[in-house]
Amino acid sequence: ADALTRAESLIGTIPDYPEPGILFRDITPLLADADAVRAVTDALIEPFAGRFDIVAGVEARGFLLAGAIAVAAGVGMMPIRKAGKLPRPAASVSYALEYGTATIEAHDDLTPGQRVLLVDDVLATGGTLIAAHELVAKLGGEVVGTAVLMELEALGGRAAVGDVHALFTA
Ligand code: IMP
Repeated sequence: ADALTRAESLIGTIPDYPEPGILFRDITPLLADADAVRAVTDALIEPFAGRFDIVAGVEARGFLLAGAIAVAAGVGMMPIRKAGKLPRPAASVSYALEYGTATIEAHDDLTPGQRVLLVDDVLATGGTLIAAHELVAKLGGEVVGTAVLMELEALGGRAAVGDVHALFTA
């Protein structure tokens, strides 16, 4: 728990990024610290240990956590990408943003019933993770858990997404 408290202290808070009025949580100092990476990787896996076959990370910071989880848990990794980046035909899900829409995509490489752990860095409104759930379902996978480093409680993502394992809250 001490290592986690220390890891949390390494998450930065940047005012007015990417727009005025937004308080951006910056996990890069945490990522730069070996003990912090180890501690959060283990803590993200812990409730789901032995219950997932592959870990799916959402572009871009979710990739970093998913890569670490994949190695630590001995499973493969599935990148969930922003639209237009994948070389083969992909499943896609679009979702509403405050202004406009976003689309996420993934290759159809899951086997039916494959158990997926979904990972991202920050849960805000929950729109991204809801879309990621939909995407995995479209591909025939089964989401067994959703894990994030940090949940921004005021934005209500937990009510929207359902059960989320969040290491830190703000
Ligand atoms: P949501 O879809 O509103 O829940 O937003 C979550 C997505 O936006 C995630 O993919 C996050 O990486 C990103 N995001 C939202 N707020 C922050 C933040 O403060 N720091 C880093 N990423 C954020």
